[in-house]
Amino acid sequence: MKRFFCVMLCSAIVGASAHEKLNVVTTTPDLAAIARAIGGAEVEVISLTKPTEDPHFVTPKPSLVVKLNRADALIEGGAELEAGWLTPLLDAARNPKLGIGAPGRIQAARAVALIEVPTGLDRSHGDVHAMGNPHFMTDPLNARAVAELVAARFATLAPEKAETFKTNLARFTAQLESKLAEWEKLLAPFAGRRVVAYHNTWPYFARRFNLRIDLFLEPKPGIPPTPAHLTEVIARMRAEKVRVVLVEPYQNRKTAERIAAETGAVLVEFCQFPGGVKGAGPSYFEWMDYLVRALSDALAKTAEQ
Ligand SMILES: [Zn+2]
Repeated sequence: MKRFFCVMLCSAIVGASAHEKLNVVTTTPDLAAIARAIGGAEVEVISLTKPTEDPHFVTPKPSLVVKLNRADALIEGGAELEAGWLTPLLDAARNPKLGIGAPGRIQAARAVALIEVPTGLDRSHGDVHAMGNPHFMTDPLNARAVAELVAARFATLAPEKAETFKTNLARFTAQLESKLAEWEKLLAPFAGRRVVAYHNTWPYFARRFNLRIDLFLEPKPGIPPTPAHLTEVIARMRAEKVRVVLVEPYQNRKTAERIAAETGAVLVEFCQFPGGVKGAGPSYFEWMDYLVRALSDALAKTAEQ
C-alpha cells in the first residue's frame, strides 16, 4: 500500500512540474497582453495595475507584494514609468527571481529606443518622464520588439516549452504585420494632422502613423492643467484649427470636455492600455484596432467641418 502511494505521489509531482505554468506578473495591462500572447496556456499572467489606473501614480498595496513574491517573472516598462511605486513593492517582496540581471526580470524598455530622452539634468519634460517618454507600447513595432524579448526570456525560464513560445511569437508577429498595414491605411488620409492630448502619452503612436499629437492640456507630464496654460492651448487650437482632443480614463474629463466645447473639437475616449475603454481589449490587437478606428472616425468627422 505504501509503495502504491509513493508511485501515485511521485508521478503526481513529476506531472505537476512538467505542466507547471510560469507565474508572470506585469506592471501594466499592455505588457500582460503581450505575455499572454507569447506564453499562451503555459503562463499565468497577472497585471499589478488596472487599465483604468494612471501608471505613473499607483498606490503600493500589500496585495501587490504577495503577487510579486510568488512570481517567476516580472515584466515592467523599465523607463521610470513605475519608478515611484515598483521599487518599494519589490523591496518588500524579497523575490530573488526578480532581481536586476535575473532572467525573470524583464525590462521592456531594453528592447526599444526611447524618444524625448532629456540631455543632462533637464526636467523640462516633467518629473514623470525624466528618462525619456515611457509610453512606447503605443507603437506596434515596439510591441513586436518587446514580444521578441519576452519570448526569449520565457524560453530561458522554461526551456522545455521554448518551441511553444517560438510558435506563439511567430503567430503574434504575423498578425501584427498584417494589422499594422491595415492601421496605416486607415490613418494615412490624416497624415500631418494635429491632435490634442491631455498627457504626453502618444508620441510613439503619432510617429508611427504620421500624426502630430504634441499639444497637451497638462503644462508638463504629471502636472495638472492650470488656467493660464489652458488659455494658451485654446488659443493655439483656434489658430491652427485643431479639432480633436484625446482623453484617457483617469484624466480630468470635465476639463477635457470644456476645452473641446470651447474650441468646437471632438472628444475621443482613448486609453493607453488594452481594456481601458469598452471594446478596446483585451488583446493588443483589439486595443490598437479601437484606437485607430476611434481616431480615424474623429479625424474624418472634423475634416468635413
Ligand atoms: Zn506619462
